[in-house]
Order: sequence, then structure tokens, then C-alpha cells
Amino acid sequence: MIPDWEAERRAMVDTQLRRRGIRDPRVLRALEQIPREEFVPAEARLLACADDPVPIGHAQTISQPYMTALMAELLELTGVENVLEVGAGSGYHAAVLGALAATVVTLELIPGLAHAARRNLARTGCDANVLVVCGDGSFGHPELAPYDAISVAAAAPEIPAALLDQLNDPGRMVIPVGERLDQELRVISKRNGVIQSRVASLCRFVPLRGQEGWR
Ligand code: SAH
Repeated sequence: MIPDWEAERRAMVDTQLRRRGIRDPRVLRALEQIPREEFVPAEARLLACADDPVPIGHAQTISQPYMTALMAELLELTGVENVLEVGAGSGYHAAVLGALAATVVTLELIPGLAHAARRNLARTGCDANVLVVCGDGSFGHPELAPYDAISVAAAAPEIPAALLDQLNDPGRMVIPVGERLDQELRVISKRNGVIQSRVASLCRFVPLRGQEGWR
């Protein structure tokens, strides 16, 4: 039987997000409306709204819905921002950011995933303000900088200097930082030239590769 995806997404938002403290109504609406099931490979579709990361091929995963919602909420987007994402994966998180901000550029190292992300975004009509670029995101994307918000979907040993550089003032970045298997989700804010960092939660992300990531 084909699941009623709208009902599945509503239940996902209620039990996994609202109940765990996600409050931003725009974030809740985005996760309710964006067809997450269209961003996971066909063989994993039944797990699309599960409370777990889902494999998307190439040893990568689409983050757990709660993590996508938490990261989006922490950026405090209002709709006017230029956003950079590092790690497009399936394109799902970029679609969520696209619903919350003015423009999104998302970088993906693996060509097959960049291609899949573009296809998923186009098929769901979420591509109007989202650009997928294939390349090493640990350098950011200077061509469209500065970014009012940066969302990093892979764990880095340190905050890549290029990303901090390309963050607008004022601006905000969410990034998992730490060891290969255990990290802290950090919120970095830049205001009047002052950079502040706080830990929002513990987390486990796939490693950031590339020049400034894990070799
Ligand atoms: N946001 C994604 C999940 C991303 S998983 C989604 O919603 O589906 C992390 C992604 O980061 C993987 O696709 C991985 O290939 C990518 N990645 C890892 N290192 C990278 C780098 N240096 N530059 C760009 N992408 C990178």
C-alpha cells in the first residue's frame, strides 16, 4: 500500500519535531510541506519519515528530520537571506532552506549526488531559488559570498577558515565540529566583527572531506 505521505509528514512534524522543542512555525511548515519521500532513493522510500538518517548512496545519508529542523531553526532565517549549504546530499536540506530564505547555494563534492540533488529539487519544484554546485565545499563558494547564513551538513575537525570569511556580518553558521564519530553542533555568530560560538547539541555527521576536512 502507498503511504499517505501528507499524513506521514504531519505525524513526523508532531512527534519528532514539536514534541522535542522545535518551535519556529516556518520551519515546522517547511518540513510538513516539502515532500521528503521524493528525496530518498526508491528502495528506502518507506523509511523517508522515520526518526533516523536514511542512506542515499555513496556511503552518505540524508540527516534525521529533527537534525534538519534544528539546524534550520538555529539559523533564525526570516526569508531575506542568502544562504550557503555545504553537503547537498539528496538536496532535501537545501529545499528546506530554500523555503525559509531568499536564495540558497549548496555545494556537493560527489558528482553523482550533486546530479541527484538537482534532479530531486527540480522534480519537486523546489529549485527556483536553489543552486547546486559540484565541488569542494570546504573552500565555500566565494563567487556568491557573503552569506547571511551557512549550514554545514558534514563534520569538520575545525571550522574551515574560508567559511568564516564568507559569512556576512551580521551572520550565523551551524556546523558540526569534532572527532570523526562524535561532534558538537556549534552555532557561530558574527556581529560587529565579533565572533561567538556556542554548542547547541551533540551530534554525529558523516565526515567533511576535501582540503579543509578529513583527508
Ligand atoms: N544535507 C544533505 C545530507 C548531507 S550528508 C541532505 O539533506 O540530504 C553530507 C554530504 O556532504 C554528503 O553528500 C557528502 O558527499 C558531502 N560532502 C562531504 N565533504 C564535502 C565537501 N568538502 N564539499 C562538499 N560536499 C561534501
